[in-house]
This record gives sequence, C-alpha cells and structure tokens, in this order.
Amino acid sequence: MTTGIWVLGDQLWTGQAALESCANRKSKMPVILIESLEQVRRRPYHQQKLILVWSAMRHFAAELRAEGWPVTYEMAEDFATPLTNWIEQQGIQELRVMAPTDRPFAEFLAELSLPCKLTLRPNNQYLWSREAFAGWAKSRKSLLMETFYREGRRRFQVLMEGEQPVGGQWNFDKQNRRPPKGKIEPPEPLWFEPDSVTRDVTDWVNGLDLKTFGEAEPFRWGVTRSQALEVLEHFIQVRLRTFGPYQDAMVTGAETLWHALLSPYLNLGLLHPLEVIEAVEQAYHEDDLPINSVEGFIRQVLGWREYMHGIYHHVKADYPERNFFEHTQPLPDFFWTADTPMNCLHQTLDTVRRTGYAHHIQRLMVLSNFALIAGLSPQAVEDWFHAAFIDAYDWVMQTNVIGMGLFADGGVLATKPYASSANYINRMSDYCQGCQYNRKARTGDDACPFNFFYWDFLARHRDKLGSQGRMNFILANLDRLSEEELNEIHQRAVDWHQPQ
Ligand code: FAD
Ligand code: SF4
Repeated sequence: MTTGIWVLGDQLWTGQAALESCANRKSKMPVILIESLEQVRRRPYHQQKLILVWSAMRHFAAELRAEGWPVTYEMAEDFATPLTNWIEQQGIQELRVMAPTDRPFAEFLAELSLPCKLTLRPNNQYLWSREAFAGWAKSRKSLLMETFYREGRRRFQVLMEGEQPVGGQWNFDKQNRRPPKGKIEPPEPLWFEPDSVTRDVTDWVNGLDLKTFGEAEPFRWGVTRSQALEVLEHFIQVRLRTFGPYQDAMVTGAETLWHALLSPYLNLGLLHPLEVIEAVEQAYHEDDLPINSVEGFIRQVLGWREYMHGIYHHVKADYPERNFFEHTQPLPDFFWTADTPMNCLHQTLDTVRRTGYAHHIQRLMVLSNFALIAGLSPQAVEDWFHAAFIDAYDWVMQTNVIGMGLFADGGVLATKPYASSANYINRMSDYCQGCQYNRKARTGDDACPFNFFYWDFLARHRDKLGSQGRMNFILANLDRLSEEELNEIHQRAVDWHQPQ
C-alpha cells in the first residue's frame, strides 16, 4: 500500500509522529506541505506570523528533501485541491497525518473528502498525551496548575532528587517578582538577518491581497530548527541567570527583558518541550545557575504550557464561547493602532504591532487585565490576540485569553480573576512615569482608567466575585469606598465607552 504524509505547518520536526512512523522507508514515502490562502483569509494574522510559518515550512521542506524524503510543496488557494491531485498522481492509498493540535483544523480534516484512507497518528509534540492528561484530571475536583506541575516534575523526573524537589521546595515564585528599579540593562536577544527564502516570503506576503495586522519588517525571527536551537543556547548562556528575578517586570524600550523568546519555535515544532527542559536542567547542574530562574522557567514549559494544552483538549466544545461576566463591550480601535494616551497600553501595543511579541506580564496584566476590567467581549479579545501574536494558535489562545486572562470560563483554570488597578502596573513597570494619567486617582479628569475600571469591575460583579474565596480581602477594600465615590467611578467607566 502506498502511504503519503501530509506535514502540517505547525509540525515542522522530523521526529513528529507521522514522519517518524515511516522514517525507515523515507525515500519511498511521498510527503506534502501546503500553504493555503483560504486558511489565512479566515481571520487576519500578524504579517510576521505569516512570514515565520511559511518561511519555516519552506526551509523544513528543503531539509526533508536533503534527508532523502520525496517532498511536494504546494502554494494554493485551498488545501483540498492540491492534496487530492497529489494523492491521485502518487497513487496514494493511505494519507498519514499527525493529529492536529487545534480543534478547528482537526474538524476540517475529519470533514475532508479524500480519495484515500486517512490515518491520524497521536500527536507527540507535548510531554503529556491527551489521554494522560485526561487520566490525571479524571479524579480531581479542581484542576490546579500547581498540582499538575508537581505531578509533571515527578513523572518526567525533572529537577528532582528522588521524591523531593531540587532546592527543597517546588516553587520559587516569590523570588521572581522583583520590580524594575534602578538601571535595567537586559542583553540583546539573538535575532537573525532574513535569508533569501525569508525575503521571498516577505515579498509574497507584501504582495497578497489579505487583511493582516502589524508590520512585516524588520523581521528578525529564526525560521529553522538550527536557528531555534541557537536561540535556546543563547537563552541558557546569556539570559536564563536573570530570567527569574525580572520575570514579571516591564520596562520601556526593553521589550524582551530576559525572556526566552522560544514560544514561536516550540509552537511550530522546531523545538520539543522536553529538549528545552532538559537543556535548562543540564545547565543548572553544570553552570551553577540560580534555582529560582531555572525552576521559574521550567514551571512555564513543563507546567503552564503543558497544562494549557491539556486543558484545551479536556474542556467542552463550548469553552471558546464562555462569557462568565457577560461582558459585551467592543474592542477599542487602539488595540489595532496603539494610538492611546494610556502609556502602558501604548507601549505594549506598539511592541506587538512591530514584532508580534509581548512578554507574559504585558499580555496578562496590561492587555487582558484592561480588557477584563473594561468589560470587553471575551470573543472579540480572543480574536484580536489571535491576529496580533507571532505565537498564536487556537489551543494556546483559548486557555490563556478566555481562561487565564479574562476569567470568562468562570474559574476552570484560575482561582481568581487577574484584575488589577494602576498599583500593580506602577509597581512592576516604569510606564506610569511617562503617562498623562494620574496613577493614584480613581476619580477626576486625570484619573487612570485602570483605576476606575478596576473598582467598577469589582462593584458590578460583587456577587459573582464574592463566591470566589480568594476575593474576600479585595472586596473588603471595595466596601470602604463611599457610595458617592462609587457612583462617580461608575459614571467614568460608562462615559469612557461612549463615542468621543
Ligand atoms: P517566557 O516568558 O520566556 O516563558 C518560557 C516559555 O514558557 C514560553 O516560550 C512558553 O512556551 C511557555 N509558557 C509560559 N506560560 C505559558 C502559558 N500560559 N501558556 C503556554 N505556554 C506558556 N503563549 C503562546 O505560546 N501563544 C499565545 O498566543 C499566547 N497568548 C497568551 C495570551 C495571554 C492573554 C496570556 C496571559 C498568555 C499568553 N501566552 C501565549 C503565554 C505566554 O505569555 C507566552 O508563551 C510567552 O509570553 C512567550 O514568550 P517567551 O517565549 O519569551 O516566554
Ligand atoms: Fe497605565 Fe494608568 Fe499607569 Fe498610565 S497611569 S501607565 S494608564 S496604569
């Protein structure tokens, strides 16, 4: 029986399950990769995301050819036409695909009418299979990330001494919240000059009649596995030591601080999470790196990333439609233009427009915090995140935006909403110093919108928040505000949404 392999755009790794299953017969195994315009017309994408994915696919096709796989590369309007032609021309009787991570694509695949049998191989790009996660989740009342993370440490023997965590505790988070006071001088990230393949893709993207977001150039991301490995090595050698303390800090002009910049590569399959974790753990033992930085990073990849993936496949299909607070305000235009006097939002949105990137705290405590307290529609916000980020995919977007950022799932994965006033942003960034709003004011014409939206959010949702145990202390502060002040706060929140 002739088997053919379809490699999807986020499965760019020779160890991926479909390729691996045929590796011993590779010269006889036709492989296809397809760039489909239909796929990218469904929603806008950041221009750098399109360049990254398509350039990485083209490089990967060349690497497979060099290894002896007979590869067909198609650029087409849709997937079905080139796929069907190829199946017929090659006489393929079984099309083998590694199971897609994203549910909409899996549904699309299931509905494709193909002239041959379709076989899905279980996806091996994560440490936890869907079945293993379901087994872990089955018997639990609550699906706490911290519990899952500890189980992952034990299961994969990461940072363990026998049954005990290395360093005597599981979590060093308290040491990883240093505010950015004084002179902060993070190292330059490892960027790359675009090669001829990337330049061709950039011209192609520039010439397309597509609704996109952001700027295509300068494009500085890696597009091959070897470049992704260089970024990992650079992170370990140059950035990891200080990653921990400043993990939550935000500094004007220092867009990436000590963050790893690895999510685009992990999400495309150019790196496997286990090799990233192992490389970091090895450096801990060999280079005497601080445990708070090493554990803090490993918690992100072994904990949060695997957890988000597991939850995505665990929750019901209505998850993306959840709207616990019944928020319906439309997305303000400045999310697309960065044109807002709120300096924290302006700085973050401008970075996203230019690079497709913002680090975790900017995503959580600036962008989605604002969307949450201002009452924006979770679905509109998720669509925007999907369009705006270089590392956005359905699986990672839903859990992070609908769940973690907006608490629209009512607390499946967060124990309380990540809502805060200007206090947090002022403590963890220098943004308020360059802002026209008064970070201390809740009322008055120069009041910071994060303040009146925050208190109005608490007041509007008092009943729902009261049932979240961890909110009692905060709600007690709300009770100290006079009715008069609360009315003014509410009016400011209402007025803010009115067209100017
Ligand atoms: P670092 O801060 O250096 O962290 C290391 C790695 O940990 C990341 O590369 C990533 O692979 C992993 N990681 C950490 N937290 C998470 C998490 N919550 N979910 C998944 N992986 C995690 N991540 C994406 O990959 N794509 C997204 O579209 C995305 N959207 C987000 C939206 C919101 C509202 C929030 C709160 C978080 C989002 N994240 C997303 C998670 C996280 O912010 C990014 O993975 C991280 O900022 C990527 O930058 P980095 O590689 O420099 O990360
Ligand atoms: Fe953001 Fe308010 Fe600080 Fe301005 S004052 S930077 S709007 S938190």
